[in-house]
Amino acid sequence: MDIHEYQAKEILADFGVDVPQGALAYSPEQAAYRARELGGDIWVVKAQVHAGGRGKAGGVKICRSDSECYDTAEAMFGQKIVTHQTGPEGKGIYRVYIEQGVDIASELYIGFVLDRSSQRVMIVASAEGGMEIEEISANRPDSIVRATVEPAVGLQDFQCREMAFQLGLAPAEVQNFVRTLQGCYAAFRERDATMVEINPLVVTGDGRILALDAKMTFDDNALFRHPQIAELRDKSQEDPRESRAADRGLSYVGLDGNIGCIVNGAGLAMATMDTIKLAGGEPANFLDIGGGASPERVAKAFRLVMSDANVQAVLVNIFAGINRCDWVAEGVVQALRDNPVDVPVIVRLAGTNVEEGQKILAASGLPIIRAATLNEAAERVVGAWRNDLSQGVTVRAVS
Ligand code: GDP
Ligand code: MN
Repeated sequence: MDIHEYQAKEILADFGVDVPQGALAYSPEQAAYRARELGGDIWVVKAQVHAGGRGKAGGVKICRSDSECYDTAEAMFGQKIVTHQTGPEGKGIYRVYIEQGVDIASELYIGFVLDRSSQRVMIVASAEGGMEIEEISANRPDSIVRATVEPAVGLQDFQCREMAFQLGLAPAEVQNFVRTLQGCYAAFRERDATMVEINPLVVTGDGRILALDAKMTFDDNALFRHPQIAELRDKSQEDPRESRAADRGLSYVGLDGNIGCIVNGAGLAMATMDTIKLAGGEPANFLDIGGGASPERVAKAFRLVMSDANVQAVLVNIFAGINRCDWVAEGVVQALRDNPVDVPVIVRLAGTNVEEGQKILAASGLPIIRAATLNEAAERVVGAWRNDLSQGVTVRAVS
């Protein structure tokens, strides 16, 4: 789960990371009021969306009066911001964050990620932070410095100091830098984050180190033990398909293809997507309905997949161990009866109660294409989709 910049800054500040003074606004009036409250003569108005790259897309503006904060916020509210991280549909701006302007001497980058090959938390840093970080890491990968944290002992101060020297910080700045890294690491560990990124981390004209931007992502599977973080979820920033799935307890990831997938088990779902690709198709989604799925749950999953207007064919692939093929078949039939679809539906069932399942599908009289193996199912779904395409049925009616 992602959170907003201002929320990440609040969490990091609790762990001793210095951040600029700032306040949130839901309206232009509030933006101007917040600016007066903060004081000073220069402010930054920042669109709060779950994506980076706002600076280049007009989502971060420097203002020199409270009325300029008002105008800037007014122009941002209700707009969609499109950055290289939002996808072409963009993300809506419903909150802005007002900060006191900061006198920047230099911009660094620091990121905490889970490095799967070393199975450790890895710190990635660069002396050249700011809006060009992607270009720098692509063109001059050697300018990026890294350190991994040994989990048994945690992040050590000497590692932070070493990094400070590699980044060319002045001796007077080292102690602050160590505190910043230790604060980020503690927040990462204690809040079950999967990513903490500060870009830029700035050294100010008067030698302070401040997190000017902050991003945190959390492990969804650990949210149950962090209710205060789960509360920060902002559905306005999520892919609506994924929010609907999360609300129904289904694991769903939207993709760009047009073959909808309904599968039980994450591993089988991955294998199904691969097999569809091998057969020449593109999956529209990853969907794991889980074990022991009732007919109602299967029907819900079916409706969710069909609510994606890009879906032009559906493949249901179930290997029933805990699941029961007859329940899955009932769910598919129920979903198709309630909401008839005009795309080919291919069902492959194997495992517990497979004969009963096949009988239910056959007896339904619905035009369901059955397949015995995953390969056959993938070939049939891609074949049926191609056949539709060649007949000019490229767009389906959205129910
Ligand atoms: P992002 O583009 O979404 O990553 O948004 P950031 O929060 O990183 O802001 C983009 C850029 O705006 C930063 O890299 C800074 O250069 C600049 N910026 C942000 N806040 C301030 C500020 O208080 N003072 C000044 N001078 N520049 C700022
Ligand atoms: Mn940034």
